[in-house]
Amino acid sequence: MADFDTPVLKEYPVIPHIQEGVMAHSKPFVAKEQFQEPLGFPGELVDNWEQVAIDKMGELTGKYRSLAVFLDSCVKCGACTDKCHYYLGTSDPKNMPVARQDLYRKVYRRYYTFAGKHFPKLVGATDLTKEVLDDWYSYFHQCSQCRRCSVYCPYGIDTAEISMAAREVMDSIGLGQKYCNEIIAKVYKIGNNLGLPQPALADTLEGLEEDIEDDTGVAVRLPLDEKGADVLVVTPSADFFAEPHVDGLMGYAKVFHEAGISWTLSSHASEAANFGMFIGSYENMRKVSLRIREAALDLGVKRIIFGECGHAWRVAYSFLNTLAGPFDFLDPKYPVPMHIMEFTYDLIQRNALTLDKSANDDMRLTYHDSCNVARASRMGPMPGGQFVLPREVIKASCNHFFDMPQETIHEATYCCGGGGGLLTDDLMELRVKGALPRMEALKHVVEEHGVTHMAAICAICKSQFAKVMPYYGFSMDSIVSVHQLVSNAIVLGNKQ
Ligand code: SF4
Ligand code: SF4
Repeated sequence: MADFDTPVLKEYPVIPHIQEGVMAHSKPFVAKEQFQEPLGFPGELVDNWEQVAIDKMGELTGKYRSLAVFLDSCVKCGACTDKCHYYLGTSDPKNMPVARQDLYRKVYRRYYTFAGKHFPKLVGATDLTKEVLDDWYSYFHQCSQCRRCSVYCPYGIDTAEISMAAREVMDSIGLGQKYCNEIIAKVYKIGNNLGLPQPALADTLEGLEEDIEDDTGVAVRLPLDEKGADVLVVTPSADFFAEPHVDGLMGYAKVFHEAGISWTLSSHASEAANFGMFIGSYENMRKVSLRIREAALDLGVKRIIFGECGHAWRVAYSFLNTLAGPFDFLDPKYPVPMHIMEFTYDLIQRNALTLDKSANDDMRLTYHDSCNVARASRMGPMPGGQFVLPREVIKASCNHFFDMPQETIHEATYCCGGGGGLLTDDLMELRVKGALPRMEALKHVVEEHGVTHMAAICAICKSQFAKVMPYYGFSMDSIVSVHQLVSNAIVLGNKQ
């Protein structure tokens, strides 16, 4: 299947012995000129890249106070060293969060601290050389920006933010990553990550309406660009065709149908994902977000609801108002933005949906908390709602639910291994190895409780698991969407 060995599933947690440099070769393809320039970056490595990079580092620490604090406050306590799935899966010591941070910190110290300028060797400061830049390109693309390490750091140092800064510096000198930058350019040109134009999108949605009607005998709509609808749904474009994502989209449609609330998708904002965050670029994140505002204004909707996507929810929950607000033209009765899970959970609480749990009796389920939902956002009215709501929706839709071990869920959840802009085939070895801790936790509930399927609410997690699960002996269709379970269980035409 691949030219690397898939790790053996063990009793977790097993902290591996270090193997220096075993992942130094792992690098994503570099973005070519045509993918760099639409994002405002140089097409290729600029001649004076050292100086441009150093200046950019100064600009970023000036702009983001948190970054400067993170760079200055590490005491090398070591609490984070065994918390990264990429270290646990690869054994490469540069995948320990503190070591990853130090790749950036040692250059920052050299140019921006008194001790580093005058006594570099004493404080581990180094010049920005080509060798250092190579390490940056490799290891800052082995961080999925999952923030697990920050939960265990006594100072709350967030390696994700340092990785984002490093990627922004690299973009600014013309060393961008192909996968992310190509995708962002597609969003600008066409409206979504997949480059799916309006007619293709309309066709796809029509096909899904036919599928639902064939299956249930009920005409459930998936409207596109419908002016005057109450709700604009912004969802990851993978929901339009990938498995199991598309089953989740059909679930949203059925929920809206039962609730009797008019809704629409938009061809202008046909993408919830915002890869601007992965490359640490505020400007690109903003430009992508503005499309949602434009679509909402154009369609005249009253609410915006996000579909099942992890990092999109982080961008929406934490940054959307700053990036593209104010949303004072929407109905003030509803939070901006709202998650589809909040919408469905609320209907379930009000007994507005009829769910036949036995429709999912062929599955014994567990749930994977996606990093950006778990550690970088919230959901619903209660603290920890991002853990409660999805589980309550699952439990309302099926009879057999079992959580994975406590140290691998909620805020301690392990990344799927493909987040943060790493979901590309050129990083397959990293993705497989990085999935190890989650696969070990899954194995545990498979053996203890006969679990057959894992549900998730992130498009990247779903795609990643569908691809890597077979490496560990699980079937690719054992990953499901939460709204796929709702879709299976919902009894249509039962509520007025
Ligand atoms: S943010 Fe996640 S991927 Fe990055 S170093 Fe920390 S634990 Fe590892
Ligand atoms: S846990 Fe925090 S302070 Fe300790 S080594 Fe890691 S980053 Fe530094």
